[in-house]
Amino acid sequence: MKRIVILGSGESGTGAALLAQKVGYDVFVSDAGTIPLIFKEELLQANILFEEGTHTLSLILSATEIIKSPGIPDHVDIIKKARELNIPIINELEFAYRYTQAKIIGITGTNGKTTTTSLIYHLLKQAGYDAALAGNIGTSMARLLVERDYEYFVLEISSFQLDNMYDFKVNYAVLCNITPDHLDRYEYELKNYIRSKFRITQNQTQEDVFVYCGDDELSINNINLKNTGAKLIPFYYQTPTDVGAYISNGVITVNTSENKNPFTMQINELALRGRHNAYNSMAAAIIGQVLNIKKETIRESLMNFTNIEHRLESVQTVGGIEYINDSKATNVNSAWYALESMEKPVVWIAGGVDKGNDYSMLKELVKEKVRIIVCLGLDNRKLHEAFGTDVDMMVNTSSMKEAVHVAKQLAKKGEAVLLSPACASFDLFKNYEDRGRQFKKEVKEL
Ligand code: ADP
Repeated sequence: MKRIVILGSGESGTGAALLAQKVGYDVFVSDAGTIPLIFKEELLQANILFEEGTHTLSLILSATEIIKSPGIPDHVDIIKKARELNIPIINELEFAYRYTQAKIIGITGTNGKTTTTSLIYHLLKQAGYDAALAGNIGTSMARLLVERDYEYFVLEISSFQLDNMYDFKVNYAVLCNITPDHLDRYEYELKNYIRSKFRITQNQTQEDVFVYCGDDELSINNINLKNTGAKLIPFYYQTPTDVGAYISNGVITVNTSENKNPFTMQINELALRGRHNAYNSMAAAIIGQVLNIKKETIRESLMNFTNIEHRLESVQTVGGIEYINDSKATNVNSAWYALESMEKPVVWIAGGVDKGNDYSMLKELVKEKVRIIVCLGLDNRKLHEAFGTDVDMMVNTSSMKEAVHVAKQLAKKGEAVLLSPACASFDLFKNYEDRGRQFKKEVKEL
């Protein structure tokens, strides 16, 4: 019997284990850390053998194939050893793909993946399609397939996931944008990260579609290199185009082929605000039109979508001050879009673990929109150096409670307090969700 070994038992690892077991493999799960209790119980119930706190070489290197969690980098010992032995290493999506007949809609990019994926899924559901949401979001694809197959999978796909995908073919691909991120996993080479993102187009042929941002330099400069066979459909903020989507005089126009009559919609009807969300909404509308979803359904879906947690989430207005949770902004680029979308003067809560940030691209916006910066991190020096001369005041804080209270005291009626850190959260919080939830809790107690 073929032996599948799963390295890393989170949602995707456990899903892969359950699917592998169901289709008849000899399955073993190994996690160098601790396996969360809920997953452990599932493995036990399914009679799947596992180990935690260690990787036992003999049990792992006897695999015919390894399914690796996207969180495990290539340079760890066990991966190197498996490679020396030429054991194929794939990931959960590549594995799950073997057991579906569904059309795949795959969304990648540096920022906007979760929003665009959720928008597209919402659109398909509103249109009555048999669609499932999976990938780097929510339930794993493999776990869903244990129950049943679907007509469409809408998948958020990270670059780490793309790195271990080979035969996987995305029928409808969306590349939101590419800006430098996660370079520590790519030998500090931007070109490696770009190459990884473009793997979303691998295996695409002329029946397939590749949707991308025509304003994004790193995307457009690299498209020709990849010479994908797919039909290319761009979206632009302002540039009118025959095929694709753009905005002109406050109206979005989407035209996915020359002879279709275009879909149009007022930009101020969109449920999601800000330029970045206009991009995400255009990408979703393109997919909707390509799938022949009715115009009214596309319009309604983009109007009635409710925003997801931690992404420009308006928490509450207290004493005339609006509190906005954008904890998911873990890099400079996403904070740029958050600031850009602000229509009131801002008290900006920023800081955390700096992943080699270059703040210069934020300077103009900060001068224009931000009155006060509340720094929330263990080391706030770089923020002070970058913006010390651009705002009225900068204050250091070291807990969410303190940051929210300081912001409340300094903000004036009619202003917004925006948590959009531009940094990772690991110095003071478990993760960005924890940071966002603490923010909301403190705001609700004001
Ligand atoms: P991802 O899943 O790629 O991290 P999200 O949809 O969760 O993306 O958004 C992450 C952050 O990036 C949010 O804080 C949001 O304000 C910002 N953002 C969303 N869409 C875009 C976009 N198209 N371009 C740039 N920033 C974006």
